[in-house]
Amino acid sequence: MLPAPIPGLEQPASGPLVDRFGRAHTYLRVSVTDRCNYRCTYCMPAVGLDWLPRAQVLSYEEVARLVRVFASMGVSRVRLTGGEPTLRRGIVDLVGMIARTPGVTDLSMTTNGHALAARANDLAAAGLTRLNVSLDTLDPERFAAITRGGNVAAVLAGIDAALEAGLQPVKINCVVIAGQNDGDLHAMVDHFAGRPGTQLRFIEYMPFEGNGGQKQHVPAAELRRRLAERHTLTPIERQGGGPSRDVRLDNGLVVGFISPITEHFCDACNRLRLQADGSLRTCLSRDDAPNLRDLLRGGADDAALEAAIRAQVFGKVAGHEAHVDGDFRVFEGVMTRVGG
Ligand code: SAM
Ligand code: SF4
Repeated sequence: MLPAPIPGLEQPASGPLVDRFGRAHTYLRVSVTDRCNYRCTYCMPAVGLDWLPRAQVLSYEEVARLVRVFASMGVSRVRLTGGEPTLRRGIVDLVGMIARTPGVTDLSMTTNGHALAARANDLAAAGLTRLNVSLDTLDPERFAAITRGGNVAAVLAGIDAALEAGLQPVKINCVVIAGQNDGDLHAMVDHFAGRPGTQLRFIEYMPFEGNGGQKQHVPAAELRRRLAERHTLTPIERQGGGPSRDVRLDNGLVVGFISPITEHFCDACNRLRLQADGSLRTCLSRDDAPNLRDLLRGGADDAALEAAIRAQVFGKVAGHEAHVDGDFRVFEGVMTRVGG
């Protein structure tokens, strides 16, 4: 069920960042670049994209200022993403800047892990608290096919480095693509059960304009059924309003299911997305994104930025429509710009 507007609720001028459905937003994903060294089939076209010109991408000072404004309205959790965040020069400096922001208590990153081995220690020292690494299969050839050229050994080395740097838990994001890697479920589980400090999350494939919009998801219920053929699944109570529904397997591994298509979580959505060009996306599915960068560069003070953010968040849609009548609609835009 999608939430209904709360009758009589007016846009607040202070306090938590709520929308007209009464949802308070405490979590901000920041895409620091739209560029990537991989070309995952579910994320972007084989030829890549016309990357944003540098001048259109937020500078670190601009990101840090916007994060400060968001934090003053109750955003306490920030995740850096992309494109590939480890590719952006000086990313460790940005981590340090955001980690020092009053009110930000949790600073994480989602990465493809390719360049992580060389950076994990510096990221942890700068104040990163947690990491998600995307890995859809352990099979080198299948991995190279899905990522169009990726190196699974480099990613596994990155995960090891993150664990050694104390960035735990390292959550492994696995997008399950029907007919491609859904046969790797048990191999992934067995591997990460043997790597203390990791958790595994299976994500339903989302149809975006940027990936051709095909229907390729495997329902989370089907994944749970397949896991239950070999394991006992004990549900873990949800914490923090995140989208993952977690279970603990009898081998000790925590496995999460993120199911935007078949078991959407829009009613509890607490997230906002700042895209690399400074536009604020309030729902993953919609390109409703007025540009905060232009306001910033036009000389807006913090009060003007806050007012613009509050107005946009208050007007947020109830949710995406991927699940309407068991059908789905294609999400607007390209994932590498949105940041996942
Ligand atoms: N490059 C980094 C990475 O791959 O982790 C960060 C950016 S990526 C866009 C963020 C997350 O979105 C990744 O975990 C990726 O697997 C996921 N993702 C991308 N396209 C998706 C899609 N069509 N459906 C589901 N998840 C997707
Ligand atoms: Fe790059 Fe991440 Fe998109 Fe793959 S999912 S192409 S690694 S941004």
